[in-house]
Amino acid sequence: MSDNNMKEKILLAIKRLGIDMVGFASKARFEGVDAQHNPFSIFPEAKTVILVGKRICRGALRGVEEGTNFGDYSLFGKTWLEDEFLAVSCYDLVRLIEDEGWEACPVFPNSPDIPTQGVAVSEGRPAPNVYPDFDYAAVACGLGEIGKSGLFLSPEYGSRQRFHMILTDAEIEETPLFEGSVCDGCGKCAESCPLGAIDMNHLKEITMAGKTMQVASIRYDLCKTCKNGACPNSVNASLMPDRIPALCNRSCLCHLEEEGLVGNRFERPFRTREAWQIGGSGDGDRGAR
Ligand code: SF4
Ligand code: SF4
Repeated sequence: MSDNNMKEKILLAIKRLGIDMVGFASKARFEGVDAQHNPFSIFPEAKTVILVGKRICRGALRGVEEGTNFGDYSLFGKTWLEDEFLAVSCYDLVRLIEDEGWEACPVFPNSPDIPTQGVAVSEGRPAPNVYPDFDYAAVACGLGEIGKSGLFLSPEYGSRQRFHMILTDAEIEETPLFEGSVCDGCGKCAESCPLGAIDMNHLKEITMAGKTMQVASIRYDLCKTCKNGACPNSVNASLMPDRIPALCNRSCLCHLEEEGLVGNRFERPFRTREAWQIGGSGDGDRGAR
């Protein structure tokens, strides 16, 4: 039986805690997820996954768009946002849930690509560490969809958000799966990629928590060499880079805003001059758009 009182307390608290997004999913939505990436491997008695998110402010991408400052995105858009601002808000919500007598287990958004870092403590258990796929969890929690670019998109911020997870044994009514669509298949992400890494002619169907989406074929091996704003993986450069600040996704951001496909609006357009690019046929030219 769902604890509506708990849900109301969480919804009331998120504004005070500076959390921009929250979604809830039951264990059933993670059925079929392999044990190595399943959040319920971490807390088997949990009943609910809660995902809390904070936006990446658009201004954190400004220096990348101009090609003049990459360091401040990596702080305000990634490291500090995940490791500090969001971590504190998530932990305060954990405390609120535990004050009500329910266990609340905070989970950091480590990359699910990170290889296991130990051996299973007993037969039948996955090896540590289990790192859930947060894109899957965001879809399962009803917060959005995976776009053709392979990035998670929400109807409010597009790809501009980061999440932390809380597993709790409180049974909380789940958020309906997102039924609309943010990505309109425009292909701007593919057109703008100087390395030709996104192939819109070969779409793949993926299903997460019962929601089916189409994603372009993507040469992630090229993304790992990309110098167009992609941020190398901080754990290991051989793992997937952060593509949110990359040219493909900044072009997507422009498109979603221009077409009114996201709710977070601004007085002025994000892109006011042609985008710079490195590594394509027009190497070094300003003109990737
Ligand atoms: S650029 Fe267009 S096709 Fe690519 S993810 Fe964004 S909306 Fe979808
Ligand atoms: S990260 Fe770079 S190489 Fe990969 S799709 Fe985006 S622009 Fe292209």
